[in-house]
Amino acid sequence: MLGSLHLLQPTTVSDASKALAEGDENAKIYAGGAELLLLMRQGLLQTDVLVDVKKIDRLHRVVRENNVLVVGACMTHRALETNPVVREHAPSFAYAESQVANVRVRNQGTLGGNLCFNDPHSDPGTVLLIHNASVTLGSHRGERQMALNDFLVDMYTTALEPDELLLEVQIPPLPAAMKSAYLRLHRYQRPTLGVAVAAKMDNGTVEEIRIAVGCIGPKAHRLPELESKIKGTNPSDAKRIFVEQKNYLRGLLRPVDDLLGSAEYKIYMTGVLLGDALEQAAGKNGSRK
Ligand SMILES: Cc1cc2nc3c(=O)[nH]c(=O)nc-3n(C[C@H](O)[C@H](O)[C@H](O)COP(=O)(O)OP(=O)(O)OC[C@H]3O[C@@H](n4cnc5c(N)ncnc54)[C@H](O)[C@@H]3O)c2cc1C
Repeated sequence: MLGSLHLLQPTTVSDASKALAEGDENAKIYAGGAELLLLMRQGLLQTDVLVDVKKIDRLHRVVRENNVLVVGACMTHRALETNPVVREHAPSFAYAESQVANVRVRNQGTLGGNLCFNDPHSDPGTVLLIHNASVTLGSHRGERQMALNDFLVDMYTTALEPDELLLEVQIPPLPAAMKSAYLRLHRYQRPTLGVAVAAKMDNGTVEEIRIAVGCIGPKAHRLPELESKIKGTNPSDAKRIFVEQKNYLRGLLRPVDDLLGSAEYKIYMTGVLLGDALEQAAGKNGSRK
């Protein structure tokens, strides 16, 4: 059972931010509530004031500005998965959104809530990293922009200040002729492992590649050293290299043994899925951008 709560519904970023500042640590932003209400019901989070940010118009827009897709933080997973502009601009991101949980959670949960909660077992952040996505944060003091990679600090930790909101996510297109794929492994609804690969091929050789892995460690990561190793190889050599990189993957991704599998199993499967994702991105099934 939840205790009595004060619900605020500001219509501007400034008012929402001031409500957070006035509420001190007691006021929490409420978007879809998929995570927040669970935490409150289980007594893991105490709060008296919910600041519902869904009445702020700007948080609901999906527009292309100078060929960069701008997605408002309150867009639900379902709205993004089915949006034709999103599917055309960032097909693997749209696909990742379609894999989140189930249709009930996708209709309730927002991209902003997903990124701000920064649960390790999440899908969207991993794909957004291969797009070099950035975020805009706002408060009554103004706005600032940063790379998503810097925003996702660690497990359940982001760069948000206590009175700040995530406003928008900027998603640049992949470079011309780069195709992508997102693959995930799951036993339950939340993913055990998610890998995103974007590749540009030249006569069967990898000319450019971007790689990100999420879920098996505290946060999603780009893998620049592995990207350098794979450049210039063909997909079958790359498959071998991926599974040989256990020490690098273990050190960077910090997997743990848990109910989803042993750390060694997760590292092994990361190598396998990366090979499969490259094959898919390089082949005719790769998403167009
Ligand atoms: C059963 C279940 C299965 C799931 N499976 C998956 C899965 O397979 N893949 C996956 O990626 N995710 C999964 N999730 C997580 C789901 O995607 C998130 O719960 C959802 O996206 C959170 O969004 P929300 O709008 O409901 O956030 P809320 O619950 O409203 O908020 C979550 C947190 O973010 C903060 N917050 C929200 N919006 C903002 C904002 N704009 N600015 C600043 N802070 C903000 C809140 O204060 C809170 O701390 C699952 C969740 C459930 C319950």
